[in-house]
Parts: sequence; structure tokens; C-alpha cells
Amino acid sequence: MEFIYNETKPVQEIVDAIAFLHGASAMDGFWDGIAQLPTFTQLTDPTCTPAVISRRMRACTTPARVVHYTDEASTATAYVTTGDRFVLHMNMKYRRRSEASFVNTLAHEFVHVVDCFADVGGRNGSFEYGHSRRHNSERPDSAPYSIGRFAQHWWTLANQHVPEQLGVKIFAEPLAEDFLGCDTGSEYPEEGF
Ligand SMILES: [Zn+2]
Repeated sequence: MEFIYNETKPVQEIVDAIAFLHGASAMDGFWDGIAQLPTFTQLTDPTCTPAVISRRMRACTTPARVVHYTDEASTATAYVTTGDRFVLHMNMKYRRRSEASFVNTLAHEFVHVVDCFADVGGRNGSFEYGHSRRHNSERPDSAPYSIGRFAQHWWTLANQHVPEQLGVKIFAEPLAEDFLGCDTGSEYPEEGF
């Protein structure tokens, strides 16, 4: 899982979140953890088990380029689109949030990138392990949400050994599913398949 982030006015929390994910990606335990997650919901291809998706994500050597956009009218935190391969659009409306939250979003979006553009052994140009546009009881256990949450959990574990004052701040973070975003169609490809 590799990202390139060359915005002229970078958000420090995104810089740090990317550094964290690059480090996590180098660890077998990170990928083993994803492989051992419970079966994802909302699959359109039931052969896409957590182990299969972990392998495909790890096999993706193409970096995703992270770019900014601003859409004040949207509740989406980020999106990928089939017209812009390996580009991950982050909504600057939601730039004021924690590194942990960005870790979650970046990992979530990377699942979409692999699903749509780097699905070795799978289908590209469509989503086999995406999620519904609107929130429902199954969506939190879809692949992108589960893996985003898993990455954030790793971040929390990695940051537990910090001064108590900071630790309180970290554990006060709301859970991933509480964050705004992914509630509108704008997070889905603009071009249909
Ligand atoms: Zn999504």
C-alpha cells in the first residue's frame, strides 16, 4: 500500500498517516490481520475473501496519488473514480481531523483503488468488494470499512505507548463508522459500468 502526496499545501496529518501506512504495509502482521478479518459483507463476488483481498492489496505495487479537492456540499470524505486511475481524492472540507482518521480513510480508499484498478486475478473497472452508497447495518462490515477500521486500530495500538495526556486524546477518537463520509454517490465512480 503506497501513496504519493505532492500537494503544494500538504495537510500534516495526511503526511503522517501516509508514513504510518507505509510502515504498516512493510509488516507481515498487518496483512495477516486483514486476511483474518471476518468475511466481508456487500460482496458482489463471494470469492473475495479477506485473505484474497489482503493478497491483492499487498500485490499492488502501483502507488495511489493523493490529491485535494473541496466540495462543501458533499458529505464524502474522499472518492476514487474510474476516469482517474490510481488517484485518491480527499475532500478538504474534512481536512481538520486526526491522523488516525486519515489512516482509516486512506486505507479505505486504497481498497477501492485495488478493487477497481489493480485487481490481480479479479475484475478491474468494477467493484467486487465495495459497499452500498447509503448507510445500512451491513455496510460497516464491508471490505473498505472493515479494512479502514483495522488500519485505524493498528494506528491506535502503535500509539498506545505515549504520555498519558496524549493517550487520552487518542482513545477519545470516535470509531471509524462515526466519521462523516461515504454517504453520497460522489464517492463512487462518476462513470458507470
Ligand atoms: Zn468507500
